Amino acid sequence: MGFKSNARKRRDESAASVDSKKSEEEYIGQVKCDVAGCNNWADKKVGGRKLAFDRAADVWGESGLSRDSRRITVCKSCYRAWKKAKKDEPTEWS
Ligand SMILES: [Zn+2]
Repeated sequence: MGFKSNARKRRDESAASVDSKKSEEEYIGQVKCDVAGCNNWADKKVGGRKLAFDRAADVWGESGLSRDSRRITVCKSCYRAWKKAKKDEPTEWS
């Protein structure tokens, strides 16, 4: 008798703790920022932007990018830093 109620209680706790608790503390996105060493989310929802690899490499260098594809995704704050660094150049991304 005691065993049964214990088991049920434990299952309820683990089911509840998975997503409801965590989303309050930090946003769980799907896309990570591709700047090396940056662990921010780069989902569109939170201000993430896509950049051509070459243009991003102008600012961070190829070794400063954790993904080697033609388009990379950066978080909001990295995008700001990139924009700042590129301020002098005409904006030509599409
Ligand atoms: Zn970033």
